[in-house]
Amino acid sequence: MKGSDRPRHPSLDLILEKLSGSIGNPRMELECSNVFELLVATVLSAQSTDRTVNTVTPALFRTFPDARALSGASVAEVESLIRPTGFFRRKAEQIIRLAITLQERFSGMVPRNMEDLVTLPGVGRKTASVVLAHGFGIPAIPVDTHVIRVSRRLSLTVSEDPEQIEADLKRQMPESSWISGSSRLLLHGRYVCLAKKPLCHSCVLAKICPSFSPHV
Ligand code: SF4
Repeated sequence: MKGSDRPRHPSLDLILEKLSGSIGNPRMELECSNVFELLVATVLSAQSTDRTVNTVTPALFRTFPDARALSGASVAEVESLIRPTGFFRRKAEQIIRLAITLQERFSGMVPRNMEDLVTLPGVGRKTASVVLAHGFGIPAIPVDTHVIRVSRRLSLTVSEDPEQIEADLKRQMPESSWISGSSRLLLHGRYVCLAKKPLCHSCVLAKICPSFSPHV
């Protein structure tokens, strides 16, 4: 397809249909066995990678399996367990405060609504959406750096504001597709539509992407 034939605004339906061929079953890459673990692992994943977080969480959750245990942890012990994830001092304090808040306000349980989740220490809208979508199966769209980049390159939004991008994406797909659709956009950004050198020549969206570049 010549540049002039390329759609300026491909539909999200078409994008997701094509991505479903390359990313059949979009799965969370954070390894967790319950919602508490997912919440803590997602907080730890800030400025880190899921792969790195997966290397520290088995020992962390063996030692502190729930909010009660983590709320009584010493900062030094938690720091030593999560050190590879970066910013470990701040994160150690954050997840202990998070566990204390879960204990004090939610009987040690993770709340299952956005309003309460975003009141927890270290939890913003993206983390809350991850927990809703992947912990509880409640339709939500976590907007991270990959989803922002891919959405802008595909003209699904013109905004740089994560909350506005979330609203723009929600408007363009049925609620039943929010979890799988946003996961596919995220994984596409992580492995194909890379920040510095997107792999346009091997991209399944090459023919419909307004940002296709023949030079990368
Ligand atoms: S064609 Fe290139 S810019 Fe467009 S989605 Fe694919 S990798 Fe990203």
